[in-house]
Amino acid sequence: MTGEHDLTVSFAVPFRYAVHFTERVFDPDNHVLVDVVRRLEPGRRHRLFTVVDDGVAGAHPDLASTLRRYVVAHADALALAGEPLLVPGGEPAKNDPALIVRLHERMAALGIDRQSFCLVIGGGAVQDMAGFAAATCHRGVRLVRVPTTVLGQNDSGVGVKNGINFFGLKNFVGSFAVPFAVINDFAFLDTLSRRDRIAGMAEAVKVALIRDARFFDWLCEHASELARLEPAATRVMIRQCARLHVEHIAGGGDPFELGSSRPLDYGHWAAHKLESLTAHRLRHGEAVGIGLALDSRYSVEAGLLDAATGERIVRLLADLGFRLYDPALELRDGAGRLQLLEGLGEFREHLGGELTISLLRAPGRPVDVHEMDTARVARCIDWLTQRYGAAERAAYAAGSEGR
Ligand code: NAD
Repeated sequence: MTGEHDLTVSFAVPFRYAVHFTERVFDPDNHVLVDVVRRLEPGRRHRLFTVVDDGVAGAHPDLASTLRRYVVAHADALALAGEPLLVPGGEPAKNDPALIVRLHERMAALGIDRQSFCLVIGGGAVQDMAGFAAATCHRGVRLVRVPTTVLGQNDSGVGVKNGINFFGLKNFVGSFAVPFAVINDFAFLDTLSRRDRIAGMAEAVKVALIRDARFFDWLCEHASELARLEPAATRVMIRQCARLHVEHIAGGGDPFELGSSRPLDYGHWAAHKLESLTAHRLRHGEAVGIGLALDSRYSVEAGLLDAATGERIVRLLADLGFRLYDPALELRDGAGRLQLLEGLGEFREHLGGELTISLLRAPGRPVDVHEMDTARVARCIDWLTQRYGAAERAAYAAGSEGR
């Protein structure tokens, strides 16, 4: 019932941010960063509080001095607020809530205000953690992301979400916060490990399958160049993937995910669970690769997707270098139930509302379902195990990279 004193409030806030593609962002001749911070108040000097992923700092030991030189070269527009703060790279950044407090302490000590900039240089995990700290300091400090991984540049870094893991649950704490700008610097990718470069391509396969059949064909045609990490193909893949993600955010009608469907999370219900079941031994992208294979096979078994296309999808993933089996797929609880299946309930809780999982009719033609047949999921796990398990177990036994 609405009372006569009730109020209805309705307003719209237009959001706008640019995703830039460049190389050597801190070269004094590169004006991308300085132009970004000048956007709203061109005549002012802007303070930059910088957070750096320690994996990036390790691979670029001159990063702090390069940044300092850049700021000196543009001293009319930029000033450093303190020395860059180094934080652990990778999932440890999201598993330690004390880091949020550390960032807040530092921002308080430096007198960071809502018009200062928080410049975050690092992979998707550091972006998620530092983005959350920035979003909650003074209820939102301007955030400029410089993602340094394939996944950061093609997906996580260009979007509007942040978050950390809590109680063993992926992204349990976090917020939607629109960045001030994103600067993708391709040169950072040169120092990224092969493992992380491959893992980052999972989101490109995902978004192609959900949104763009031609991009899926392109990925199939260029799989060997991508697997060889050739820069030209990698850059095309990153731009296209980033474009599809931001188009979805801007034009998909639900940028802050108020509904219970999350169409760009194809393959992610299993991926998030595999990450926690392996205590993050699997990278996010590696888990997504397995999740895509599983949900594509499920789509075939459910009679939605033709078997030949299902085959193309797993072949593409394998050709790119993904391993499509992990022992965590087969873990069972005390009652003998597959633990992976708990991921369905957790996925529903994270989104709210009824369970909504995207499956596939064809590349570019997703379909939402609200129920998953657990016996069918088990058959798909079996299928992956039969097909890829033996080779993967041998790889484990040999202690191959990252596992
Ligand atoms: P990552 O952040 O876990 O980084 C992987 C490793 O690479 C780390 O050890 C890091 O220190 C190192 N590294 C980063 N850049 C480097 C460089 N240029 N040179 C050398 N080493 C470098 O990996 P990721 O794939 O970028 O991010 C995964 C995270 O992103 C997950 O936590 C996932 O949940 C999150 N994610 C967030 C969103 C979102 O919308 N916010 C979307 C997808 C994924």
